[in-house]
Amino acid sequence: MVQGKLAWRVGRLAEVRDETPTARTLVLDVPGWPGHLAGQHVDVRLTAEDGYSTTRTYSIAAPADGERVEITVQRVPGGEVSPFLTEVFAPGDPVELRGPVGGWFVWRPASRDPVLLVAGGAGIVPLMAMVRARRQAGSRTPFKLLYSVRTPEDVYYAGELRRPEAGLDVTFVYSRKGPADWPGEPHRIGVADVNNAGWPAEFAPQCFVCGPTGFVEAVANILVALGHAPRRVKTERFGPSGS
Ligand SMILES: Cc1cc2nc3c(=O)[nH]c(=O)nc-3n(C[C@H](O)[C@H](O)[C@H](O)COP(=O)(O)OP(=O)(O)OC[C@H]3O[C@@H](n4cnc5c(N)ncnc54)[C@H](O)[C@@H]3O)c2cc1C
Repeated sequence: MVQGKLAWRVGRLAEVRDETPTARTLVLDVPGWPGHLAGQHVDVRLTAEDGYSTTRTYSIAAPADGERVEITVQRVPGGEVSPFLTEVFAPGDPVELRGPVGGWFVWRPASRDPVLLVAGGAGIVPLMAMVRARRQAGSRTPFKLLYSVRTPEDVYYAGELRRPEAGLDVTFVYSRKGPADWPGEPHRIGVADVNNAGWPAEFAPQCFVCGPTGFVEAVANILVALGHAPRRVKTERFGPSGS
């Protein structure tokens, strides 16, 4: 049997929380879970009765908490796995998980460098684990979060992110329709947004960028053009991950 993080473990769905009309947080109990760092992800494997199985990758949405693992899944219309996880998978149901995976796109609470998080859509998930890990650790490391969403209804973890928190600045950018009191026109994140909501490059922040591939590449290019060292800009792309 394969040991450690490469082992498949059977988890059970303990709790669900709807984040938006199309995204759901799944809280799983995973006996034997070894713990994880904020920013890591898991592989989730589903197996049908006829033996067909398929695997997808999901970022972990919350810091380590015993044998609990939280993921948030965005329903992709016509997708094989995400409609099942968000619509059919019910409390008590089993699922196989393997992980934690990834050691580069992680934030450690001992770090004192200022942090810039830039999320596009579901890309908020591992960045939320970092925000929550900071809170859990009582860290005073200053964080700025720039979060691009289509409309206010698409904001994940809205209650938590709209609540003021010392040392955490949150800026929303709406790409389709903003709230009535939002100044400006809906737009994609550009240089001015990153410049206004981020840290000056001379502060040498750690930057974490996550979302769809095109979004991540555009934001990473902007950060480098603004003078941030490429090695300080860590990226995670949420492309299709089927196998
Ligand atoms: C490192 C990593 C972390 C990820 N973390 C998360 C996460 O926290 N939450 C989350 O919801 N998803 C996450 N994903 C995406 C996830 O792994 C799946 O790709 C997604 O759930 C779609 O799977 P599916 O089986 O429903 O769709 P599939 O059956 O695989 O695909 C159906 C159709 O949708 C397209 N498609 C697939 N994935 C996407 C996508 N992400 N965006 C747009 N179109 C897509 C495919 O090209 C195909 O045309 C992550 C991916 C990676 C690589």
